[in-house]
Amino acid sequence: MKAEILSIGTELLLGQIVDTNAQWLAGELSGHGIDLYFISQVGDNRGRLVETLQRAWNRSELIICSGGLGPTDDDLTREAIGDLLEEKMIVQEPIANALREYFSLRNIIMPEKNIKQAALIPSAEFLDNPIGTAPGWWVSKDGHIIVAMPGVPHEMKQMWENQVVPRLKPLFPPGVILSRTLKILGKGESAVEEMVKDLITSNNPTMATYAKPDGVHLRITAKSADETTARDLIFEMEIKARTILGTLIYGDDDETIEGVVGTMLTDRNLTLGIMEVGTGGMVAALLSEAPNSINFLRGGLVSQQRSMLAGWGVDSNMLEKYGIMSREVAEVMATAARRQTGAEAGLAICVSPGHGEFEGKPAGQIIMAVDLDGHLESSELNYRTKPSEVKRLAAVFSLNLLRRALLK
Ligand code: ATP
Ligand code: MG
Repeated sequence: MKAEILSIGTELLLGQIVDTNAQWLAGELSGHGIDLYFISQVGDNRGRLVETLQRAWNRSELIICSGGLGPTDDDLTREAIGDLLEEKMIVQEPIANALREYFSLRNIIMPEKNIKQAALIPSAEFLDNPIGTAPGWWVSKDGHIIVAMPGVPHEMKQMWENQVVPRLKPLFPPGVILSRTLKILGKGESAVEEMVKDLITSNNPTMATYAKPDGVHLRITAKSADETTARDLIFEMEIKARTILGTLIYGDDDETIEGVVGTMLTDRNLTLGIMEVGTGGMVAALLSEAPNSINFLRGGLVSQQRSMLAGWGVDSNMLEKYGIMSREVAEVMATAARRQTGAEAGLAICVSPGHGEFEGKPAGQIIMAVDLDGHLESSELNYRTKPSEVKRLAAVFSLNLLRRALLK
């Protein structure tokens, strides 16, 4: 069965809301093994809504709509489905009475407009909505199903789970689609893709790379009749990917770089001190998100001024000689961070956040160093992007430098 999602509402097209309904429903469909080929968005316009429904009807057996079930003139999903199937809407008295009762319980006279929420076409039946006024529609005709649910996300989700899934169950194929994500830091998206290019041609599991704020994500998705086989398919592919990418992979699925580093430090019984210049404390803030940061994060020193560093134990001669944006000074800072906080590990980050220009783009420089019980490690990165982005990258990459030092 081919499915299609249709999100209805002009707000979507004005960029005022994000289509989280479609995203959520897409996850549900793949979880039930239903092939989803299209997601469309259309405004509150009857003609374009009918046109979009017609296109969906021609190419999909299951059309799942959300939005446009309200009582107002711009809620047109019911009317459009009626137009599509050339069926007239007829008010259903029991539902109309229930609707009137809903209003009278609240001491409000029901606006006449609302009566259309109690109407059906002959091919439709109601989908109960106990937490809102608009019932949904389940439409079945000529081997096609149209589901119309409210736009309000929690009403839509409840209707999907309690009303739609039980009706669809007999039609679900016996199968599952499972996904797993490997997270990578240290190479860009195209470099990662190049490394795994022989794997990416696979049809089942399929594989794809995505550039994300916390690195490159490599998604592996397998489809199979049963969960065990899908898991095995993913596992085999994951082994191949791990053989190629090795320690570039820092985590999977819900893992975060801060969580991974936090666990490594805790497992090794190590504590950490940080010294940051130019980040506004972003590294400490990110690390504080690690679930057990209270156990390993001793403290951080944050400044925008190099003149503070001498007081924090950074040799002024080194600063004079190499300047603050140097690996030599970053290493001295890492050691100072360790000593100042009485930790076993020290992490230093210096960022010049890209207020300068380089070839017409802001030039940001990141220098970082780790001192792990006296073993020093440092690295330097240059980016052409806006200051806030340079700081964010500094936080993620400095934690990755620490991770790599801990792996040794
Ligand atoms: P109502 O009876 O509340 O009017 P409705 O079925 O007419 O419901 P809409 O008016 O289209 O639904 O949307 C109601 C609200 O639900 C929107 O203002 C928006 O906040 C949210 N919403 C609608 N569609 C989506 C969507 N696709 N993704 C996320 N939120 C949505
Ligand atoms: Mg509405």
